[in-house]
Amino acid sequence: MPRPARFILDTHLGRLAAYLRMLGFDCAYGNHADDEELAERAAVEGRVLLTRDRGLLRRSAVRLGCLLRSDDPQHQLEEVVARFDLRSQAAPFTRCIRCNGRIEPVDRGVVADRLQPKTLRYFDTFGRCESCAAVYWQGSHYERMRRIVERVLAGAKSPP
Ligand SMILES: [Zn+2]
Repeated sequence: MPRPARFILDTHLGRLAAYLRMLGFDCAYGNHADDEELAERAAVEGRVLLTRDRGLLRRSAVRLGCLLRSDDPQHQLEEVVARFDLRSQAAPFTRCIRCNGRIEPVDRGVVADRLQPKTLRYFDTFGRCESCAAVYWQGSHYERMRRIVERVLAGAKSPP
């Protein structure tokens, strides 16, 4: 099992992929991979296959897999964090939620022309995805995510 753990997610687990990326984990996810592609890529790249489909885990190529019980993305995140002991491996807000690329610090001057004047007025620190160039800063969206990250890494459960 590689550390930090790397994952590949079944289709329909897009929210979970975003949450795991938010914690810094390398997550392959696309919403139109078929079962065979998923199983093969998991094996070739040493990724844990996350799914709600028992049949998919029975495929012979799958060596590392995890069947998720919940259909709620936050509960799924709690399951995966507990099952693979992810608390000590997390690196929150270092990975792009949209494309899985690395987020690197970027000078505000470099991204200023892509941001609203209000954003530039209130925030000083920016990050940019080195793959898709999405720009990140610690706005209201970040605050919501930070609360989820803190709760999950503290081992607290979200309400059922
Ligand atoms: Zn990106």
